[in-house]
Amino acid sequence: MSKTLAIYWSRRDFRLTDNQALSRAASFAKESKGQVLPLFVLEDYMKKDDFPAPARHVLSHALPLFFEQYVHSLVLEGKGARTINLVVKKFEQEGYDVHVFVNEDVYPDFYIQIEKIKKNNISIEVCTDRISVSKETKTGAGNIYSIFTPFKNAVWGEFVSREPLPRVDPKKIPYFEKPEKLFLHAIPCNGAELEKLFSKKRNFTAGGAQHDIDSQIDEAQDLSAWYMSEDEALKGFKAFLEKNVDEYKNKRDFLATEGTSKMSLALAWGFVSAGTLCSCIKTHYNASFDNPHSLRHEGATHYISELIWREFYGYLLYHYPHLMHTEFQEKFRGKIRWQENKEGHRRFALWMRGETGYVIVDAAMKQLAKCGWMHNRARMIVSSVLTKNLGVDWRWGQEYFRAMLIDLDEASNNGGWQWGASVGADPKPIRIFNPYLQAKNYDADSAYQKKWLPSERLVLQLPPLVEHKDAREDALTRYGLSEKGGVRYF
Ligand code: FAD
Repeated sequence: MSKTLAIYWSRRDFRLTDNQALSRAASFAKESKGQVLPLFVLEDYMKKDDFPAPARHVLSHALPLFFEQYVHSLVLEGKGARTINLVVKKFEQEGYDVHVFVNEDVYPDFYIQIEKIKKNNISIEVCTDRISVSKETKTGAGNIYSIFTPFKNAVWGEFVSREPLPRVDPKKIPYFEKPEKLFLHAIPCNGAELEKLFSKKRNFTAGGAQHDIDSQIDEAQDLSAWYMSEDEALKGFKAFLEKNVDEYKNKRDFLATEGTSKMSLALAWGFVSAGTLCSCIKTHYNASFDNPHSLRHEGATHYISELIWREFYGYLLYHYPHLMHTEFQEKFRGKIRWQENKEGHRRFALWMRGETGYVIVDAAMKQLAKCGWMHNRARMIVSSVLTKNLGVDWRWGQEYFRAMLIDLDEASNNGGWQWGASVGADPKPIRIFNPYLQAKNYDADSAYQKKWLPSERLVLQLPPLVEHKDAREDALTRYGLSEKGGVRYF
């Protein structure tokens, strides 16, 4: 009788609680009296200059913290599907009946990898993860939802009632022992060794040009203050529940107040699941939160609604992978006359550097450059200004954010950029943010601007790259719209 091996292929799910692929691998091995192998593949593309530096930081810090909890595990260099095929074949030669368990992602390349693995007749189970509600949720007419509020109302009950899976105890897993004996090229899973494998350069491509971040941005990015494990993330979330969640709805938009949870990193890299956060909220209030319109615990209800925005963008990208490069709204595809060529690149470079002359935008761009994160309202402002005032293609902004964000989530980043450029789902009148009004409303005492910009920049202000009053006209022309076409100013 052949022996059974359950491979848990870990990708962006560095947690023990509510981890479906890990739980399935552990229970499958237990039932079949087999063994488990937790595996991470450090893929070739991760060693390239354009692999985002914040992701390198997370992998060299969070991956060892996660994997050191296992008694035995394996880290290999290679290519996703190809490496999985090789590993499975090797075990099959050793007489094992192998099953692979992996958590699902919504990034298009993920499904390409899975198809390649399946083609080799490998048994692989793709578990629910990035989207916690049913991906097949449809409108009454059987369509994919394209507007947030009806989607939220449709999935709310499912989202709040889902109970997270219990924590897997890594000491009780029946391991395949010492896998490195079979794979002599296994790499040691410690931060210093992993760091050596990553490039030190920071590049990305946008608008057909390669951008060398270090030659364009003066600030070094310091990510050392970020939490890097499930336990730390949960500790931070509990502090948020104690201190901020009640006032979340009222405070979340103010740029200088630390009124948001900073859970985006934890969700993006799977240190926690959305279901676990929701469950912590229910326990905190001892309430079921089954009514999305309830005014009781308004802050927490609003917070759950934001978690569902993340679900919505994941759902959209899952159904429409082309959104990574194409406008959701067909009427805008290939129609907007973006500022390209030399002037477009000049404006884009100044925006990245935080030298647009709009103080609020410049402060936000410095925040991103320094700590790999930006407040949500600031993300909305800088994306509106890049696309509407400076006339630069939203795809360029999306690429810069991909290179710089520690909480990069392809679906939310794409959804946020399409929203900022007013080309995405949830069609509303085109929104043109007034950066001066935004600063007045959300940073009235300039505390945020003072924190992120050197004091001389606040005194000797740069002239704006484009006068805001002209920008409005420019944007309308660029988008082929008139004032009557439904424009809203913020
Ligand atoms: P909180 O206010 O505490 O919200 C809790 C959680 O809800 C967040 O962690 C996030 O998972 C979710 N959430 C909140 N707002 C949104 C939103 N508008 N869209 C989707 N999910 C939301 N979020 C990412 O996680 N990764 C990205 O790469 C990303 N890129 C963005 C790009 C642009 C242009 C814009 C406008 C928004 C982007 N967002 C992204 C959404 C949002 O800005 C961040 O989720 C939020 O700022 C993270 O901070 P927080 O965890 O303190 O948020």
